[in-house]
Amino acid sequence: MAQFICPNCEYVYDEEKGDPREGWPPGTAFADIDPDWTCPDCAVREQVDFLPIEQFERNDQDGNVISAETLAARATKTQEQA
Ligand SMILES: [Zn+2]
Repeated sequence: MAQFICPNCEYVYDEEKGDPREGWPPGTAFADIDPDWTCPDCAVREQVDFLPIEQFERNDQDGNVISAETLAARATKTQEQA
């Protein structure tokens, strides 16, 4: 299953985990998410704005490269805080 990232805030949607907080059970394909759904972290970007994580190139403002693993861990942490 694939992961998709918000190019604005780097929230990651993982199809395997879904986002139950947002009403998407684990296994929900990103293509099945409502195109009007907005990013739960920044509410700026919509479903159609997300990128496959392997296509994402970080805005190089601080020069750090964030690995996909780190991003997934952050997404999990965000869910736990909800
Ligand atoms: Zn976002």
